[in-house]
Amino acid sequence: MGKFQSVNELVQVLRPVNPVYCIRPESLKLSCNFFVNNFPGKSLYAVKTNPNETVIKNIYQNGISNFDVASLEEIKLLRKIAPDAKLYFMHTVKNRNSIEEAYFKYQIKDFAFDTKDELNKILDSTKNAKDLTLYLRIFASNEHAEIDLSKKFGASISEAVNLIKVAKLHAKKIGISFHVGSQCMHPISYSKGIKEIGNLILKSGIEPDIINVGGGFPSRYPDLYPQPLENYITEISEAIEKLSLKNKPELICEPGRAIVAESGSTIVRVELRKKQKLYINDGTYGSLFDAGTLNFIFPTRVIENGKNLSRRLTPFSFCGPTCDSMDFMKGPYILPNNLNEGDYIEIGQLGSYGLTFRTKFNGFYSDDIHEVEDKPIMSMYQQDEELKSNYLVA
Ligand SMILES: *Cc1c(COP(=O)(O)O)cnc(C)c1O
Repeated sequence: MGKFQSVNELVQVLRPVNPVYCIRPESLKLSCNFFVNNFPGKSLYAVKTNPNETVIKNIYQNGISNFDVASLEEIKLLRKIAPDAKLYFMHTVKNRNSIEEAYFKYQIKDFAFDTKDELNKILDSTKNAKDLTLYLRIFASNEHAEIDLSKKFGASISEAVNLIKVAKLHAKKIGISFHVGSQCMHPISYSKGIKEIGNLILKSGIEPDIINVGGGFPSRYPDLYPQPLENYITEISEAIEKLSLKNKPELICEPGRAIVAESGSTIVRVELRKKQKLYINDGTYGSLFDAGTLNFIFPTRVIENGKNLSRRLTPFSFCGPTCDSMDFMKGPYILPNNLNEGDYIEIGQLGSYGLTFRTKFNGFYSDDIHEVEDKPIMSMYQQDEELKSNYLVA
């Protein structure tokens, strides 16, 4: 991994043939600082969002020492990079072997569940351990999220009443969690989730030791401009106050996207142009999965290479390198009209769920990752004024 002052410099030096991925440590510092200083509780970074070692090291060094993991591989990775970090096994469907190893080999005590069967699995696999913190994940509406997670996870309140009573008999501590879906565009989803927790407390007569409001905190994209994150935090704090609990619960959250999105970008090269379609060297089966399958629009800019870039802008679509027709990213990506073979484009906001999704389909795969020091194309942690000059052309 190299270090460059800017994406511009990187391209000038490397003239990369394959896609290159950039990490901006300064962006990670800003996002981690935001959560550490503003969230009224513990912030767990959701490892799946970007499991790159450099990214995780930076997050850890910036004061986030709690991590949400979903598999043994993620646990092993974290124990290697940050042995002192506290890990929470928050997947609600785990195999017995993973639970057993997590507990006995990696000293993990925090586990999530949303069914009786999973609860039994956790109790069996830890040999009825007495030091567990068990998180009951309840269903939460994902109506304001760009990515819905509610079809797979979460107990209904009527199921949850019984589940929490059983869990209470076995756990050292009880948590209740939910997830409002990823890229949640309205803070009200969090207060609704917390209200549901209030409902469950009322019906079960059990107050949790911990309330976990999950992930879903949004980032900024050209066509998705959420309210400031401060509003999300105020909404959460006020909703917790309204529960008027006898004992103040510990509060935790599990941000993924909001921590890493703006810290990463992909640099691609145009291999061919067909009218308004640019054939580039990364795509749906690489870091641009969300662009291809969810039609997410990412911010783009051309890397200056000496040629006069047209002031006329054109909406382009991207075609990825594989032979599959799903390897197509509709966009529109607004770029100078005279782009052509050999031009390099930086695609921003790919620090979340970018590196994660790469495959080797058709033999196209790149693991060329470097650090850069310049500012990201878009940011919600830095003033727009500083960034304006960055947009479209580097
Ligand atoms: C994916 C995930 C997160 C992170 O979600 P973001 O929307 O990226 O913030 C947090 N918690 C759990 C349980 C998850 O599965």
